[in-house]
Amino acid sequence: MTTFQRKRVVIVGAGFGGLSAAIALSRSPVEVLLLDRNNYHTFSPLLHQVATAELEPELIAYPIRKVLRKYPHVQFATAGVKRIDVASKFVETSNSLITYDYLILACGSSSHFCGVPGAIEYSYPLKTLKEAVTLRNHILRCLEQATEEADPSRKRQLLTFTIVGGGATGVEFAGSLAELIFDSLVKDYPGLDLNQARVILFQSGDTLLPEMPKHLSIYAQKQLERKGVEVILQTRVSQVTSDAVYLENQRLIRTSTVVWTAGVRGNYLAEGWGLPTSKNGQVEVLPTLQLSDYPQVYVVGDLASVQQDGQKLLMLAQVAMQQGKTAANNITRHIKGRTALQLRYRHSGTLAIIGRNAAVGDLGKLTMTGFLAWILWLYIHVVNLVGVRNRLIVIINWLYSYFFQKRVVGLIFPREETSPFYRGRLTSEFYRREEGETWKN
Ligand SMILES: Cc1cc2nc3c(=O)[nH]c(=O)nc-3n(C[C@H](O)[C@H](O)[C@H](O)COP(=O)(O)OP(=O)(O)OC[C@H]3O[C@@H](n4cnc5c(N)ncnc54)[C@H](O)[C@@H]3O)c2cc1C
Repeated sequence: MTTFQRKRVVIVGAGFGGLSAAIALSRSPVEVLLLDRNNYHTFSPLLHQVATAELEPELIAYPIRKVLRKYPHVQFATAGVKRIDVASKFVETSNSLITYDYLILACGSSSHFCGVPGAIEYSYPLKTLKEAVTLRNHILRCLEQATEEADPSRKRQLLTFTIVGGGATGVEFAGSLAELIFDSLVKDYPGLDLNQARVILFQSGDTLLPEMPKHLSIYAQKQLERKGVEVILQTRVSQVTSDAVYLENQRLIRTSTVVWTAGVRGNYLAEGWGLPTSKNGQVEVLPTLQLSDYPQVYVVGDLASVQQDGQKLLMLAQVAMQQGKTAANNITRHIKGRTALQLRYRHSGTLAIIGRNAAVGDLGKLTMTGFLAWILWLYIHVVNLVGVRNRLIVIINWLYSYFFQKRVVGLIFPREETSPFYRGRLTSEFYRREEGETWKN
């Protein structure tokens, strides 16, 4: 009898790229070990709705083991990878060394604070589920504190919410936050004049949504302004403190909330692991997604710097998923003695929601705005969400918010994460120690 030894593929990261690679490899003659520091997959396109109390966090996360039930040759372990050694072909977690024949790195991106003093310590990023919950807690706590506050200037500060970065995440968050504050919560805070509240969106460039055609950017800006968002273009933030945001033109705005959506870069870990990285921390790979010196190592998703037709691919879920499939396919081809194929990314379009009945869509030759784009956005997001129960409850939540103009979530939980001091200290230590961000005092 011939014994057949399956090759081992280790995948680091069970986000969009890693999970699609694992599923694509499930029919190949390999053993797959998927590692993630969390035991769940996060559907990040809906993070802003968690942060604005529209969805419970559990609805946009799904246990990875449940996704993988159907695939006997794909194993999963909850483990944060600390180090990789591409020469000796192993990855190191906090309690084990794992060898591999092929490695797929899919550990995503990190928020980039662009060296702005105080941004790491005092702003609220929106990249992970934990950050979305922390931000939601903070917003609700500001409103609670404002109801008790006797000092009018401190009350104004608590009711001023600023967002830095007018890309898709900033726009979607700003629209949803404005609806939360100016529509949904009015009846819950009868003693608070929410007309005093401000939602301010800063964008360094001259348009919002710079990746989209100009008329869509203009539409998005008008819709946000109609919802009460103050859009401030061509303005850079120069410093963030615990009670203010400073602008380059020497102005300062007193605020207890600065949400940071202005920058994304490849996961800091890649540099620490000695991989060849570009200026924004992404790993330089061949068009086949392999490292040039170590072809058994593939990099996919936000972590990979890949050009196609002279243009750098954006950090998008659909890019990550297609790259995951290409890396899986190339590993299968290599095992069968065939050469690796180059990625051929097919872009299916971009959508951004601004709020109730308003969204923009850039589908290549076709662009759309308004109700139709909004329905398409809802449909695409619910269809791509993992888990039938999650999809059903998300639809129910959306219908409830739409018809009753109320948010389903109102709890501030857990308490300790919402303290600015605790959060600031935790974040700065985390970035300095774990991710090597230079932090000047
Ligand atoms: C708020 C927000 C909204 C977005 N909206 C959209 C949208 O509408 N459409 C769109 O196409 N894209 C959107 N994106 C971008 C999209 O989410 C990313 O491009 C996509 O998630 C990238 O996939 P990935 O697999 O590279 O990384 P991720 O999906 O981020 O997954 C990385 C995984 O690696 C794990 N990990 C990291 N480090 C380690 C480690 N050391 N050890 C073990 N595991 C590790 C993480 O836990 C995570 O599960 C959005 C992103 C954000 C933050």
